[in-house]
Amino acid sequence: MKWIIKAGMIIYDILSYDKGFTWDPGKRIPLHRSLSRKKVLELEPIVKGEGLSGASVYYDCMSIFPERMTLAFIKSSVKYGAKVANYAKVESFLFSGADRIAGVRVSDELRRKTVDIYGDITINCGGPWADIILALAKKGTDGEQLRRSEGIHIITKKLVNEHIVGTVTARGRHIFIIPWRGRSIIGTTDKEYIGTPDEYRVTEQSIRELLDEVNDSFGMNPLAFDDVLYTWGGLRPLVEDQTEDVYESSRKYEIHDNSSDGLEGLITIEGGKYTTSRNLAEHAMKAISKKL
Ligand SMILES: Cc1cc2nc3c(=O)[nH]c(=O)nc-3n(C[C@H](O)[C@H](O)[C@H](O)COP(=O)(O)OP(=O)(O)OC[C@H]3O[C@@H](n4cnc5c(N)ncnc54)[C@H](O)[C@@H]3O)c2cc1C
Repeated sequence: MKWIIKAGMIIYDILSYDKGFTWDPGKRIPLHRSLSRKKVLELEPIVKGEGLSGASVYYDCMSIFPERMTLAFIKSSVKYGAKVANYAKVESFLFSGADRIAGVRVSDELRRKTVDIYGDITINCGGPWADIILALAKKGTDGEQLRRSEGIHIITKKLVNEHIVGTVTARGRHIFIIPWRGRSIIGTTDKEYIGTPDEYRVTEQSIRELLDEVNDSFGMNPLAFDDVLYTWGGLRPLVEDQTEDVYESSRKYEIHDNSSDGLEGLITIEGGKYTTSRNLAEHAMKAISKKL
């Protein structure tokens, strides 16, 4: 196991060989280093000592405020001529003829009015809501249901010193304890969510399941439900076969041309991650340019 991790770290360093190539010394990212068992327990006593032979430390980028990154994408699209709107809920699709999508009817939730938006191509990128939006175009006919997975995080008192400490749980999942403003963020989870995304809430059961996994995987005094100071959760759309386990399901994305469902002019994008979003956008633009 130790050598597999070592080999993985070396491959990771090779793949990201250019992470130190920047004029700003403060932004140069170092290569990985290996720590002895003694050093690990000295630096981060929360690591479980039982069966421990050492650890690897590696350095990577971190997006502390992903919503600001999303806003940066939106602002640069505006710079290139896009018109954008917030609080604009798609209520229905506009058709030209029987099956050509001509745009969307949107309710402006701030001004309380309805606006029709026309376009040669309409893209449905509703994330975990994508199937519900698509059902509006299919006019109530039962479409394929998207599979959704829940991921939660909790915040507790400070548990780690300087490092994000990650481990593999008994279920084979990765779990991380992250230093955060004098406290610790713990997460995430990956569990199928059955229900409508609008009604999604973090439940006590999900928090308790995460606590059980954390208490099992780290060498600290067990955390109790009352130790949880804050919590939040989100849903991810999954695009794999219904029979697979959620954690095993891939986060690959799918760009689906809905003309194959009889809806010309509509493209639905499902799945993907922040880290793959730029690549997804490029592929989506290629699919669109073929249709224009
Ligand atoms: C717990 C968790 C951890 C994650 N960690 C990572 C990570 O470490 N790295 C990573 O790369 N990715 C991560 N992700 C995935 C990342 O958050 C998603 O890939 C990303 O948010 C997907 O963006 P999206 O625009 O496709 O969908 P979303 O961000 O879900 O956006 C969909 C939007 O559609 C809107 N919408 C719904 N219905 C309508 C309607 N009728 N009209 C108009 N708008 C509508 C919703 O309000 C929402 O704003 C994580 C996700 C979760 C849940």
